[in-house]
Amino acid sequence: MSQEKRKIIPKKHPMPHQEAKVRSTNFEEVALGYSEETAILEANRCIQCKNTPCIDGCPVGIDIPAFIKMIAEKDFTGAIGKIKEKNNLPAICGRVCPQENQCEKLCTLGKKNEPVAIGRLERYVADWELAKGTESVKIPETNGKKVAIVGSGPSGLTAAANLAGLGYKVSVLEALHVAGGVLVYGIPEFRLPKAIVQKEIDNIAALGVEIKTNYVVGKLSSVDELMQEGYDAVYIGTGAGLPSFMNIPGENLNGVYSANEFLTRNNLMKAYRFPEYQTPIRVGKRVAVIGGGNVAMDAARTALRLGAESYIIYRRSFEEMPARLEEMEHAKEEGVNFELLTSPIEIKGNEEGRVVSIVCQRYELGEPDESGRRRPVPIKGSEYEIPIDTVVMSIGQGPNPLVQQTTPDLETNKWGNIVADECGRTSKPGVFAGGDIVTGAATVILAMGAGKKAAEAIHEYLQG
Ligand code: FAD
Ligand code: SF4
Repeated sequence: MSQEKRKIIPKKHPMPHQEAKVRSTNFEEVALGYSEETAILEANRCIQCKNTPCIDGCPVGIDIPAFIKMIAEKDFTGAIGKIKEKNNLPAICGRVCPQENQCEKLCTLGKKNEPVAIGRLERYVADWELAKGTESVKIPETNGKKVAIVGSGPSGLTAAANLAGLGYKVSVLEALHVAGGVLVYGIPEFRLPKAIVQKEIDNIAALGVEIKTNYVVGKLSSVDELMQEGYDAVYIGTGAGLPSFMNIPGENLNGVYSANEFLTRNNLMKAYRFPEYQTPIRVGKRVAVIGGGNVAMDAARTALRLGAESYIIYRRSFEEMPARLEEMEHAKEEGVNFELLTSPIEIKGNEEGRVVSIVCQRYELGEPDESGRRRPVPIKGSEYEIPIDTVVMSIGQGPNPLVQQTTPDLETNKWGNIVADECGRTSKPGVFAGGDIVTGAATVILAMGAGKKAAEAIHEYLQG
């Protein structure tokens, strides 16, 4: 059908969800996924633009119009094959990519109507394949060279899959006891089920990639030692997992967590299934999460599901919050309270050293700062106290430092991130880096894009 004759359906087909009241009491996935019928209807909204702007918005360059056309034609095998030419983690990306700032932002339909729901369609075919079982893949013939990947987050996994596809013998060395990085320890089950992450990691392992967990590079072996042990190149994808604190009185009290620890206890150590799993989280009656990003939303929604009243404390207004709009709306619907234009100045404790309250100061918005957002200005004499049992600090994460500390000739910037060019090349020959450890905390797909580019650069380096 020609573009002129096609009747445009202005809105995306809605994503079915668990009811807010029900989902706020469980850890099951919130978004339930399209049915086959809805996926085909949504795929038919795509007008198959000749200039394909959406592809430019995808950091790994998926041929979006091609896979959408295959869905419209009910060729799901073809569609998932097309996606996997460029992306080894489609069920994950279909769920957590901020598509509104990437492919969907550039979709032609989005100029006058809502863009095609590219992410939901990616998720649909990826889930379709996982449900039916993935076909066994042919492991490429080895070219005799070995590459070590430090860190098993989306960046490391993507570099590993791409290098394995080129015939390298790849070992992924992961500090934690489970592979996946933030995908397993940070993003909660209700947004990204861990069984899905594991299946996608299994698919990468099936390419012949060896995954060694409980392997802390910088403790067991340094980068230099890995190279002496026979690795021809090393890719560092160690992420940004170092929590930041506000340096206010009371942050050392029992009941104050970094978002990182709070989410890791819950997601990786499965505190929400205590006592079946042995790591509990004592949240008490009220939890205050400090911050306004996606990590803060995940922590606040987790606290709610653990049975607490949950508060987001943020020093600007709703409009300035950096979290995805969808996540903020989900949090609101579920009953998270937003204490806006306010910031903590002290956490108070009892004689046993446990948190009992948080003292906050109100703010108003002044002139825009260098980020373009209006600067929050404290209002004198506006201090007030909220009784609270648990505080979760979610004001940003810095780079994991161990590899930089144990690799002296690796250049870093003033924040401690590894300096690398756009292909991941660092100051040290044979050592490449990408993802959050280079850019600072960013997104899954940007980390994957960096892993993919670095795999190409490693191939070029090793093939001389
Ligand atoms: P990571 O995922 O951080 O993985 C790094 C891995 O390296 C970790 O497994 C770590 O244990 C390991 N490691 C570190 N040091 C060593 C060492 N010395 N030796 C061996 N291994 C080591 N992005 C989105 O696009 N959408 C979202 O919805 C989203 N939600 C998020 C929610 C939370 C709570 C958080 C924290 C982040 C979220 N992000 C989201 C950001 C996204 O997850 C990250 O940008 C992405 O995971 C970065 O990937 P990476 O591979 O660079 O690092
Ligand atoms: Fe389809 Fe939108 Fe891409 Fe055009 S820009 S091909 S309408 S998904």
